[in-house]
Amino acid sequence: MSAYKHPESALIHGGHTVDPLTGAVNIPIYQTSTFQQKALGLQPAWEYARTGNPTRAALERLIAELEGGTAGFAFASGMAAITAVLSLFKAGDKVLISSNVYGGTYRVLDRVFSAFDLRYAIVNTEDLTALPSQITPDVKAILVESPANPLMTITDIRGVAAIAGQRGILTIVDNTFMTPYLQKPLTLGADIVLHSGTKYLGGHSDVVAGLVAVKDRGLGERLAFIQNATGGVLGPQDSFLMIRGIKTLAVRMDRHVENAEKAANFLQNHPAVSKVYYPGLPGAQGYEVNRRQAKNGGAMMSFILDDRHGYRVFFSSLKLIALAESLGGVESLVCHPATMTHASIPKDIREKVGITDNLIRLSIGIEHIDDLLADLNQAIEASEI
Ligand code: PLP
Repeated sequence: MSAYKHPESALIHGGHTVDPLTGAVNIPIYQTSTFQQKALGLQPAWEYARTGNPTRAALERLIAELEGGTAGFAFASGMAAITAVLSLFKAGDKVLISSNVYGGTYRVLDRVFSAFDLRYAIVNTEDLTALPSQITPDVKAILVESPANPLMTITDIRGVAAIAGQRGILTIVDNTFMTPYLQKPLTLGADIVLHSGTKYLGGHSDVVAGLVAVKDRGLGERLAFIQNATGGVLGPQDSFLMIRGIKTLAVRMDRHVENAEKAANFLQNHPAVSKVYYPGLPGAQGYEVNRRQAKNGGAMMSFILDDRHGYRVFFSSLKLIALAESLGGVESLVCHPATMTHASIPKDIREKVGITDNLIRLSIGIEHIDDLLADLNQAIEASEI
C-alpha cells in the first residue's frame, strides 16, 4: 500500500527516486553511457544508456505515476517526445490535430512527417459535434491541447476520448500548460499524455526536456521500442534536474495560479485591454468544461491591447517581465505569438484562428503580484498612441 494519498506527496516521493544502491535521498546522476556485464548471455538490468539509465528511469517512473499511466518516457525535448509518439503511425495514416496546437507540432507534421506520407488535418475541438464525421478510416489518432496555445482554448478531453474510443483511435493530449498537478488526461480517458518538460515540470527555465506517459502496457512497449530505436533520450543530468523541479511543482503551481487569477482580473478590468483569454475567468470559452476536467485555469493567458495602444511599445516598455519564448518558469515571461511561437503557421491560417498581431501572451511567474501588476500597468500606459 502506498505511504501517501495526495499529489503533493507523489511529486516528492513518486517513482521511488531514492537510490537503491546507497539510499541517497536524491537519485544520483548516473553519468555513464554503458554498464559492465557480469557474463555473456545474462540479461543485465542496465546495458546501454540509450536503452535505459537509472536516473532517467527514475524520472520515467515518476511521470508515469503522476499521470496515472503504466509507463513513462523521457526525451531530449518536447518535440522529441512528440516525434516519438507520431512514430507510432505509418504512411497513409492520418492524425487529427486541434487548431491552435503548438506551432512546432504543426510544423513537424507539415514539414517532416508529410515526407513519410503521415497525414494530418486540423479540426476545431472546441465543439465536438463535427468531430465524428471527420474520423475517416485512415484517421488513427487525435492530438489535442487544453488549454491550447495561445488563445487558451478548452477542449473537452473526456468528450474527445469517448468519441475516439468508440472509433478505436488514440487520444493524445499535450498536457504542458496544465501539468498532472492540475489535470490528468489519462484519467479522463486519453491514451497518451505528453509534455514539454521544459516548462512547468522543470519549472526554472534551465532544462529542455520532453515526457510521455501511456495507459496501455502494449502501447508502452511500442513506445519503449521507438524511444530506443530513434534515440532522442534525455541525458542523466537533465533527468536529475527534471526530478528536482517536479518536487516543488505543487507549491510553484499554487502561486502561479494565485498570481494568474489576479493578473487576469486586472487585465479584464483595464480600459486599454479589449479581450482576455484565460480559462479561469467565469464566462471564458470552455470555463465550465475546464472546471470539470482541471483543478483551475492554470497560469497562462493572452490578451489584446485595443487599437489606441501600440503592442510594440508595450513589449519594449516592460521592465520586469521578460520578452522570451517558452513559459512555465518561476519568472514571468511575455511573448508575441504572431512572430514567435506561431511564426511557422502561415499568416492566413493564423489570423483565421484569432492569432492577430496585437495578441500578447503571458506566462505568469511566482514573483510578488504587486510587482507584476505594476509592470503591466506602466507598460500599458507607455504604449498609448
Ligand atoms: N508543446 C507545447 C504546448 C509547447 O508549448 C512546446 C514548446 O513551447 C512544445 C510542446 C515543444 O516542447 P520543447 O520546446 O521542449 O521541444
